Amino acid sequence: MTLIPGRECGDCTVCCTAPSINKPEIQKLSGAACRHCTSLPSGGGGCAIYDARPPVCRSFYCAWRTVDIFSDDWRPDKSGVLPYVETEGISEDFDLGTGIGLMLVGNPLKTVRQRWFQDFVVTGVTSSVPLFLSLPGPRGCQAATVSLNTEEMVGAIARGMVKEALEQVVKILRGWDFQPAEITYAGNDVSTPD
Ligand code: SF4
Ligand code: SF4
Repeated sequence: MTLIPGRECGDCTVCCTAPSINKPEIQKLSGAACRHCTSLPSGGGGCAIYDARPPVCRSFYCAWRTVDIFSDDWRPDKSGVLPYVETEGISEDFDLGTGIGLMLVGNPLKTVRQRWFQDFVVTGVTSSVPLFLSLPGPRGCQAATVSLNTEEMVGAIARGMVKEALEQVVKILRGWDFQPAEITYAGNDVSTPD
């Protein structure tokens, strides 16, 4: 994996909170901060066991760290969007075998009403990049995820109504029947309490 030069996680810990982790060496509920996350009075933060963090943490980077289509402003704790590389659920209609997922980890409606976010969606959809919009579920649940490469979105882009279309997608995601995320391993649950 190649990392974008000069780009650091800093005090972002979004990927230590939003997703679930289900590995033999570490387990965590989605939406629960890892108990190794630190929050410093100075405003800094990060992983308290960084040098000894388990392999799953060493191998994961969000797409902001690995894909050069995102500007510096997209750091997840600042943008409210956790971008990730999606390899599953890509239709064979696409030339690309991988896509981009955009998980709304901040204020979803506020985010999709931002011009920079709409511009990214418009560019991706019109360039036939597989794009997905995702919303974390309640603590312990799987996220809701839908494709943005739809006829509705293409039509909305043509009519200059992408904001309204994204608001509608957020409404669908908020009404999702969120299912529990399966945690099959045990022994090192690092989820912080409710
Ligand atoms: S979400 Fe991305 S920037 Fe934030 S800590 Fe994880 S890898 Fe780093
Ligand atoms: S152990 Fe892993 S999940 Fe926990 S804070 Fe460190 S990097 Fe994040």
